[in-house]
Amino acid sequence: MDDYYDLIELPSGAHIPVPIAKKLVGEEAVRKIPVSHKVRNELFFECPICGERGFYSGLCPDCWLDAEHDDELEEFANKWYYMRMSDYPLKEKAFVNMVKKRRFRKLRYIKAEE
Ligand SMILES: [Zn+2]
Repeated sequence: MDDYYDLIELPSGAHIPVPIAKKLVGEEAVRKIPVSHKVRNELFFECPICGERGFYSGLCPDCWLDAEHDDELEEFANKWYYMRMSDYPLKEKAFVNMVKKRRFRKLRYIKAEE
């Protein structure tokens, strides 16, 4: 899938992966979302511990390694991921609501760099 890593950005700044967005609202609705000038590349996300930029959200590889030997870091990482997971249903609900109200222009389609 060539859009596997593409993202939809909500007005809150939260992101939903395009394959999930398509499952939620259908491909036709996703195609109506304006394309952002932003590109998802290796600078897109920020490690919540050290601020290192990366293509993936969450801890950077160095902080993962550190967290394996540091209980406090590990706890922080677990909390961070837990918060992200618990936000997910809300984020999806907000997205589906916006599409239902046809507020496509408040959303942005962010393409992933090849
Ligand atoms: Zn880091």
